[in-house]
Amino acid sequence: MFSKILIANRGEIAVRIIKTCRRMGIKTVVVYSEADADSMAVEMADEAVFIGGAPASESYLVQDKIVDAVRQTRAEAVHPGFGFLSENASFARRLAAEGIVFIGPNPHAIEAMGDKIESKKFAAKANVSVVPGHVGEIDDTAHAVKISEEIGYPVMIKASAGGGGKGIRVAWNRKDVEEGFPAVRAEAKASFGDDRIFIEKFIESPRHVEIQVLGDKHGNVVHLFERECSIQRRNQKVIEEAPSPLLDEKTRKAMGDQAVALAKAVQYDSAGTVEFVAGQDKSFFFLEMNTRLQVEHPVTEMITGVDLVEQMIRSAYGEKLPFAQKDLKINGWAMESRIYAEDPYRGFLPSIGRLVRYSPPPEGDTPYGFVRNDAGVREGDEISMFYDPMISKLSTWGKTRDAAIDAMGRALEDFHIEGLGQNIPFLAAVMDQKRFRSGKLSTNYIKDEFPDGFQGLPPTDAQRDLMSAVALAMHRVLTRRASPDLLRDDWIVVVGHDQRAVKVQADNGDISVTCDGKTTRLESVDWRPGRPVFRGCFEGQDFAVAVKPAAEGFVIRHRATTLHVLVLSPRSAELHRMLPPKKAADTSKMVLSPMPGLVVSIDVAAGQAVRTGEVVAVLEAMKMQNILRAERDGTVKAVSVKAGDSVAADEVLVEFA
Ligand code: ADP
Ligand code: ADP
Ligand code: MG
Repeated sequence: MFSKILIANRGEIAVRIIKTCRRMGIKTVVVYSEADADSMAVEMADEAVFIGGAPASESYLVQDKIVDAVRQTRAEAVHPGFGFLSENASFARRLAAEGIVFIGPNPHAIEAMGDKIESKKFAAKANVSVVPGHVGEIDDTAHAVKISEEIGYPVMIKASAGGGGKGIRVAWNRKDVEEGFPAVRAEAKASFGDDRIFIEKFIESPRHVEIQVLGDKHGNVVHLFERECSIQRRNQKVIEEAPSPLLDEKTRKAMGDQAVALAKAVQYDSAGTVEFVAGQDKSFFFLEMNTRLQVEHPVTEMITGVDLVEQMIRSAYGEKLPFAQKDLKINGWAMESRIYAEDPYRGFLPSIGRLVRYSPPPEGDTPYGFVRNDAGVREGDEISMFYDPMISKLSTWGKTRDAAIDAMGRALEDFHIEGLGQNIPFLAAVMDQKRFRSGKLSTNYIKDEFPDGFQGLPPTDAQRDLMSAVALAMHRVLTRRASPDLLRDDWIVVVGHDQRAVKVQADNGDISVTCDGKTTRLESVDWRPGRPVFRGCFEGQDFAVAVKPAAEGFVIRHRATTLHVLVLSPRSAELHRMLPPKKAADTSKMVLSPMPGLVVSIDVAAGQAVRTGEVVAVLEAMKMQNILRAERDGTVKAVSVKAGDSVAADEVLVEFA
């Protein structure tokens, strides 16, 4: 076996690979950029080599620097992780020429599958069903319109070199193609340096189902069943699971057989993924093959017991696959949530910053199921604008899909992050939705379920009771400490306009709350002032909620539901009722920055009359441009920033008169 491997990546995937190498007794080297000098991967690896500036183009993407680091540390092989150089055939060739092993497929397979147009041609030859469309390059807009009309709307315009959800656009009519074709072409040129475009049928309300394959250098290829990744925003996955609730045994076998046939056709000799788009009727079409380890590989590992990184290393070393197709079985169900630094309440815009608090749930066998958290960060680390904004991947396993979902809901409750926007409340909302539990998924799920954007979920009666009890318990702890003579057992709990009279009975950290003749019980309270998480057992069920003291009362979040709860004495409650309702500050005349980022342009000036829909400013963060438009007609009163400025979320950019 290899004695030393260099990992040409960063973050959670570098940490993930180090863990397997350690178990196999292989020494590890990581390369790191300026931004990652103090990272967890650097701390964990046996050796670390500095390779340059924070932008990937100055470090992780520079082949010469990676090769130098290999020479310097005498590593024998390179694991590229995903992203960066992982699907770069010239890098794989370069390593081979230098006598270094690339832990991935042979360059010929990367080339054949790396390009969407080429891979579709290959797939069609291997008798794999491909999305109906035009498998070839398109010259210009007129040609694009002609092709789209032949295929029939809706169609999808795609960059042949595309990836990560970029360079894709749906067109419902001729006008969409006329606008979309040049836009996708420009995006493809800018993002991938390759502006070849093709067009295929857009499958409506589809599901994303993919097959994990694994090959060796001796002609053996197996598949490790499917993953379903239909919960996507901006064509990018956020929740994945294995197996898929869509497939039956027959479809699973048909899809698996096609994936293996395609892999064999390119002499595939590592871990890879064949992606399909599937109709609700279980019809399915080949989308693309990813010739690398996939972000969501943990769910496959959890249901098969196979360590995919270990198998990649073994096949790169020349070993034969240790199992045949018939040895592989699906065991239970696994769910993965991608925890992103993004603000679900603002259209999932990136929200980078420092992890002021980072407290993941316990891993391994927990009271609520098996939990795995793939992370590359620690408390105090920064999620920077230079790389992918993923914080960690939280996975759970259970005997059934319901058990895996329940475990995920609880694990998300126990995951506490502060300092930046994060999508845990959104992920918790999905776990709590009936539709998700029923398995009726589609890539439109988020748009269908949250048509006006995500605003959290309204409380259930049980959640209201839970959060009232939590507020009463915290209020009691604080009162006992500050002014014990004010302790009493009758209180009014205020949530919005609703006031409820309750009786509280406390004994040894447990409390019973009686309201309208119904008594609920909160036990095992170990909360102390200042703690951001309150854990306990309510009506016999363990829970965790995030708590924050507010100017008055507490802000409490349980899963996707946030409530402002106030505990008052009956007399104060009477006075409280007479207070005029507070008015929110009037921000209707201001254009606020929806995210931290860089001002690309300010398109208006003071005194200028602006019509609804006109572009006011363009912001950029994490390579994503966000165009801000006027929400009504008006005259610009003041402009407070200029192009090139860095702005915080909610900063005033432009004010209207
Ligand atoms: P999938 O592997 O399922 O296709 P995505 O398409 O969402 O997942 O993301 C994969 C791409 O995201 C990678 O090819 C890479 O560009 C980027 N990426 C995600 N996480 C990382 C990471 N930790 N380091 C580098 N690139 C990453
Ligand atoms: P990428 O390389 O960015 O991952 P894919 O071709 O895999 O690009 O497409 C990304 C996502 O876009 C898919 O997971 C799927 O949700 C959606 N998609 C792609 N092609 C189609 C199609 N023809 N019809 C419907 N949805 C599609
Ligand atoms: Mg894809």
